Amino acid sequence: MNTDRKARWAVRQSALPTVVRPCPDCSGTRHRPSGKIRVNANGKLLDVWLLLSCAACDRTSKVPIHERVHVSTLEPARRVAYETNDPQMVRELTISRSLAARNGYRLDWTGTWELETRTPLYALDDPTPLEVVVGFELPAPVRVERLLALGLGLSRAEIRRLVGEGRIHLPMALDAKAHQDFELTIHGPGAVDAAKHSKLLAAPSGARTDLGRAGSSGPPQHLPRQAAATAGA
Ligand SMILES: [Zn+2]
Repeated sequence: MNTDRKARWAVRQSALPTVVRPCPDCSGTRHRPSGKIRVNANGKLLDVWLLLSCAACDRTSKVPIHERVHVSTLEPARRVAYETNDPQMVRELTISRSLAARNGYRLDWTGTWELETRTPLYALDDPTPLEVVVGFELPAPVRVERLLALGLGLSRAEIRRLVGEGRIHLPMALDAKAHQDFELTIHGPGAVDAAKHSKLLAAPSGARTDLGRAGSSGPPQHLPRQAAATAGA
């Protein structure tokens, strides 16, 4: 099988998730990272918290990261990142599912990502299979059906039909939520072999080679599309 054609889709971060838990001071539940991490030293023991701000009343609340850990057990670079409010560390803590689970709160990933695609517009008509590598810049859970609809510019009904016809091969169910890199394959219309045969006879081989390279290393033949995530994935 010719799998020369490749496209890359990227789930890009546009915001950090919202921490959902009750605010002690108001009826609000949505919290944003304040950008700060607090470190308290008591002798050789450290307490570390991620600081959140209530989106409604601005009250600061704390999420424990480490409680009374000996200073020697923390990697020095990590301690420095805590002490300097390193934005990468704030991000890592804010998107951490294990931290959320440990502290009993939920992460709302709505509006945190957008899909960047470089799929050739003729992707669905070309009989050569197209491999799409989907990369996640942040681990936002994205429903696969929605991802495909955005990436291919089709309705969800059309996506379901293509998957039902075996045109789109997925490593997971269409209604599953993905949050890490995966690959899918899109096959041409009709019986793949028959279509390939007729196209080969009809089109000069040079043109086919150019088409085959588009979307990977060849010069861009179209503009990347941005699809914003507006509703819950
Ligand atoms: Zn509040």
